[in-house]
Amino acid sequence: MARYTGAVCKLCRREGQKLFLKGERCYSDKCALARRAYAPGQHGQNRKKVSEYGIQLRAKQKTKRFYGVLEGQFAHYFELATKMDGQAGENLLKLLESRLDNVVYRMGLATSRAEARQMVRHGHFTLNGHKANIPSILLKAGDVIEAKGTDKVKAMAEINASKPVAKWLEINKETLVGKVIELPSREDIDLDVEEHLIVELYSK
Ligand code: SF4
Repeated sequence: MARYTGAVCKLCRREGQKLFLKGERCYSDKCALARRAYAPGQHGQNRKKVSEYGIQLRAKQKTKRFYGVLEGQFAHYFELATKMDGQAGENLLKLLESRLDNVVYRMGLATSRAEARQMVRHGHFTLNGHKANIPSILLKAGDVIEAKGTDKVKAMAEINASKPVAKWLEINKETLVGKVIELPSREDIDLDVEEHLIVELYSK
């Protein structure tokens, strides 16, 4: 399964916003964005006028990078979002939030989505009692995920014990059984993006 393998801090610097791609480091003063709050590259510190297309593109890139998905998969989510009831942009964010790797992260069982993705790939979880090692599985209300009694997940849960669990999820950190209470609303999603810009980009 393809994934981005380049330098991740560059992505935050490009978007001018913390995307929390590196776990604990993102909360420390070692964060690259805190140290160098300008775009990477030779001309990163030059201010330039951004076109309407550029603004829309940045909104799409930021969202894609926040959730760690690649272009083709992101376009697929957008297509699904347009076929659902409601606003396409909001649907898109809800679909991305409902990915299994994101849910593991939002439950506080991993320090980053990349780590959650790896834990899922390594088979640390079951979904509704069945093996679930595909990070992109989309969860729905009532779905139950359970850690398969691994020390790794327990250790991660302890490390993340102080981090809040998303309010649309619940997790018992003793038994490591979690549930999707309901799918998130837009207000529950802490990504600072104007999702209508993504819709406008794809509508061109
Ligand atoms: Fe982004 Fe985290 Fe790197 Fe900071 S440390 S630039 S938030 S990935």
